[in-house]
Amino acid sequence: MAEDCIFCRIVAGDIPGRIVAETDHAVAFLDANPLAPGHTLVVPREHYARLDEIPAEEAADLFAAVHELTDSVEGAVDADAVSIGINDGEAAGQEVPHTHVHLVPRFEGDGGGPFHAINPNSEQPSDAELDEIADAIRDA
Ligand code: 5GP
Ligand code: ZN
Repeated sequence: MAEDCIFCRIVAGDIPGRIVAETDHAVAFLDANPLAPGHTLVVPREHYARLDEIPAEEAADLFAAVHELTDSVEGAVDADAVSIGINDGEAAGQEVPHTHVHLVPRFEGDGGGPFHAINPNSEQPSDAELDEIADAIRDA
């Protein structure tokens, strides 16, 4: 546990959080500043700042919790869909440095965008650039 981490303190029960589900390695609670009713955060119990720091078994459990909860969250607020995402790193907008998966209920006509709204003006790469990037990812 990181003493100065707000999510570690919620997991430990040191500060109140509206916990909605718990598994061996994951805890889910309502976001305090929701983007929509039912906005839920799913976090690993242990403190890992970035996704790639989470050991495989704990990451699998985290995703299993996301998989299980998505339907519950959508149904609880009678939503039409759910946006699921991680701001993985400061440049991606991560403010709390304890990995968390956002489940944001979505409603027809809610005015929100898809993930493509993150950078709608991004330049499209050429086929050669796409090949190069795919190679780099395979080799990483
Ligand atoms: P990030 O920008 O790091 O991906 O998202 C952090 C999220 O944590 C935000 O949606 C914010 O509303 C939420 N948050 C920040 N502080 C607290 C807190 O003390 N309790 C809860 N439940 N959520 C918080
Ligand atoms: Zn933490």
